[in-house]
Amino acid sequence: MKTLITAVLALIVTIIAFGCASTSASRSIELGAKEKQLEKFIAAHVQKVEPMIKQANLASWDAAISGKAEDYDKVSKLTLEIRQVYSNPQEFATLKEMKQSQQVKDAKLSRQLEVLYNAYLENQIEPELLKSIVDLGTEIEKKFSTFRGTIEGKKVTDNEIKEILKTQTDSRKREQAWLASKQVGPVVAPDLVQLVKLRNQAARKVGFDNYHTLSLTTAEQNVKDLDKIFNQLYELTNKPFAQLKAELDRILAAKYGVPAAELMPWHYHDPFFQESPLVYQLDLDAYYKDKDVKQLASRFYAGVGLRVDSILQRSDLYEREGKNPHAFCTDIDRKGDVRILCNLKNNEAWMETVLHELGHGVYDKYQDQQVPFLLRGPAHIFTTEAIAMFFGRLSRNPAWMQQMLDLSDQQRTEIEKVSDKYAQLKQIIFARWAMVMYDFEKQLYANPDQDLNSLWWQIVEKYQLVKKPPARSEPDWAAKIHFTIAPCYYHNYLLGELLASQLHHHIVHNVLNLKSDRQLGYVDQKKVGRFLTEKVFKPGAMYHWDEMIEQATGEPLTPKYFVEQFVK
Ligand SMILES: [Zn+2]
Repeated sequence: MKTLITAVLALIVTIIAFGCASTSASRSIELGAKEKQLEKFIAAHVQKVEPMIKQANLASWDAAISGKAEDYDKVSKLTLEIRQVYSNPQEFATLKEMKQSQQVKDAKLSRQLEVLYNAYLENQIEPELLKSIVDLGTEIEKKFSTFRGTIEGKKVTDNEIKEILKTQTDSRKREQAWLASKQVGPVVAPDLVQLVKLRNQAARKVGFDNYHTLSLTTAEQNVKDLDKIFNQLYELTNKPFAQLKAELDRILAAKYGVPAAELMPWHYHDPFFQESPLVYQLDLDAYYKDKDVKQLASRFYAGVGLRVDSILQRSDLYEREGKNPHAFCTDIDRKGDVRILCNLKNNEAWMETVLHELGHGVYDKYQDQQVPFLLRGPAHIFTTEAIAMFFGRLSRNPAWMQQMLDLSDQQRTEIEKVSDKYAQLKQIIFARWAMVMYDFEKQLYANPDQDLNSLWWQIVEKYQLVKKPPARSEPDWAAKIHFTIAPCYYHNYLLGELLASQLHHHIVHNVLNLKSDRQLGYVDQKKVGRFLTEKVFKPGAMYHWDEMIEQATGEPLTPKYFVEQFVK
């Protein structure tokens, strides 16, 4: 994935970054007065924000590479300036009036109006309230970055906690490490509840019942649709998850010498059980260690007809002092300057990452320059995530590995033995965890005064089948930093996975006309690049995401194919 912060920034930039002079004299003959007014508005608006956005993107790139405080300050300053444009109440009123008039009929203009309206709407917070929200958020973030949990009075880092949860077999020591991972909860919880209330206050001022509803609305999503998708996935994964989980519990119980019925949250390797425990080890690094993951990615993408050389040339790919240790993709100007940041090593994880980031990259690179700048870019943050996931998954695909790494049939069979099981476990565990995040966050904003500690464990028990430790009543939920730094966003990760599977299904059956995806690694399948370019990349945000998905795959977003691919 894009790093979290980057993903969030990208969301903001996606919403605000559309802009380009799109006045067309020939068209304006047929346009009504309101439409002409909007065209003028857009032209002026784009002229103002386009250079600001490019500058902010460049500054953000420089900061990620240098790690210097002054570069990050520049990013904050430029981001704030852009937000100020979108907080203009008169301009918002103009857009609102145009929207309510229902006189903007032209499809392109009406879509641009929608995008602009949402970008302004989410920034209509009074400066004082906005300042309190930003300050409190920063305050909590600081606490997160400086707080260290303790084990028997000794401070431990997050990495040390994770290491203990991965390797320690003594249940008592595991429990201590898990407890240490939750100690930040009570430190941040009161502020976080306050932050939720401030965000709700801001949402109510613009006519929404709470911040969760506002966030979804400005991101062109709604609770009803998401509830439907999440409920379907819940139903479809209930039984298989219970089976996988029981199997996992038997292995863990034997490993830690406790009855399966007495397994506690600290027996699951990850503090939130969001990743699969390392019981079906799949070590693919050996296959990659003598290869060049950059070359492999470049060769693969060229093979499907999506050239990434121009992206790689502008990118920053290897580790350096001070550089951001993660990975992301950025579209600097929506005119072809697309870059990725990585810290490549020749192993499986970085193979996945570089394929993933270049997935974002080709979405941006192959957009259609004829599309108005306001609508140029992904249909939604989760649709670009889906493309990135679609390609990122290949690093563990046995057929892809065989073709790209020249493996023997026997080696492929070896990989197949564990890779299926591993992928299933990884995806289903993540899906159930994402349900926890979505459900809890929805209820958190609906009523921040309820007993959130109990609510959290009711939800965890429901979706993850992990037991609450007896008599525990602590704000364990608050230890998840996403509620602070990326509110109402987490569900997009899961929607990305669902769409990646839906695209996979459609491409296998309707583009490549295959009966199944057995032994399909997509290598040299030019039709894949053509299909994605025509149906996903080029339309950009011309259509609402659900319309784009339906046009591309013949049906609305559905969890069906995720289940088909990973839940067996
Ligand atoms: Zn990503």
